[in-house]
Amino acid sequence: MDTFIKRKKTRPVFLGNVQIGGYAPVVVQSMTCTDTRDVRATVSQIKQLEDAGCEIVRVAVPDDEAAGALSDIRKQITIPLIADIHFNYCLAIEAIRSGVDGIRINPGNIGKEKIVKIAESAKSRGTVIRIGVNAGSLEKDLFKKHGGPTAAALVESALRSLAFLQEAGCDAMKLSVKSSDVTTMVEAYRELSSKSDYPLHLGVTEAGSIVNAAIKSSIAMGILLNEGIGDTIRVSVTGDPVSELHVAYGILRAMDIRKVGPDIISCPTCGRCEIDLFKLTREVEAKLTGMKEHLKIALMGCVVNGPGEAAEADIGIAGGRGYGLLFKKGQIIKKIREEEFMATLLDEIYSMIAERKET
Ligand code: SF4
Repeated sequence: MDTFIKRKKTRPVFLGNVQIGGYAPVVVQSMTCTDTRDVRATVSQIKQLEDAGCEIVRVAVPDDEAAGALSDIRKQITIPLIADIHFNYCLAIEAIRSGVDGIRINPGNIGKEKIVKIAESAKSRGTVIRIGVNAGSLEKDLFKKHGGPTAAALVESALRSLAFLQEAGCDAMKLSVKSSDVTTMVEAYRELSSKSDYPLHLGVTEAGSIVNAAIKSSIAMGILLNEGIGDTIRVSVTGDPVSELHVAYGILRAMDIRKVGPDIISCPTCGRCEIDLFKLTREVEAKLTGMKEHLKIALMGCVVNGPGEAAEADIGIAGGRGYGLLFKKGQIIKKIREEEFMATLLDEIYSMIAERKET
């Protein structure tokens, strides 16, 4: 990590060998959108998510058959598995028995006695529980008391369930208070963070398709992470869950919280641009998808301002008329023809990564 942000210390929990809280790096999660009963499709999607940087994965467990598939899924993947449970506490107990690393329960639709039963089972197997409060399914009494799913209502719901689980002797827990409303979500997490030192899982729920999800999540998580709040994040996207990882790592990179993957800096172009920068940017992004090494790569439309504007980049190209200047750390290295841009850039990037590994 390389950040000026002072993280709030939370008590660490472990999902498999992944630490959450206790100053561990902010962990990136996602959730499958396959039918969990379809083990092959679910495992295949988990592997795609893992390739894109997913560090913990959650699957929905709506019925007995889905719960029955968990053990098979767990055996075929390497990242920690979390079972997402609503309504039926028996499914939570079944999931815990099947060997998942964690479960997420929604206190709004599972009452106290059942939460305590889940706690006893989780404790006996060392399974981590996330108390996942969701503004859309708040307990009725809290909804009435607060006049709706306000930040205070979400926090009260989380703390109430936390107390039930603590009474039952459970300690390996994390909390979330998600809302689709950015302001409510930020307020709720701030409040919760001031009242508890359990790790917090950040998320804006029902955030929409990629553009809306990226905007809402960046604002909400950006505010909270900047205040040192948040131990693990999930960006919810209506669409391919792999895109969630791109947004999540983009947020963490932009804040210098985690340096993972390529940071592609490209100018918007203007009247000075004489190369097809849109195409180059698309191709570079596509080619480097899934790369774990962190490099700042600048793709600039012109030589007038390009190298100077991207002086902080590790490597970049500034376009001219049918050619471009390849530069490293703001220094021009050589002139290349436009049709050579991709091949030259990729060669240079791969050799920079190889050099880093050697040193
Ligand atoms: S780098 Fe050049 S082409 Fe790109 S926006 Fe700046 S001046 Fe325009």
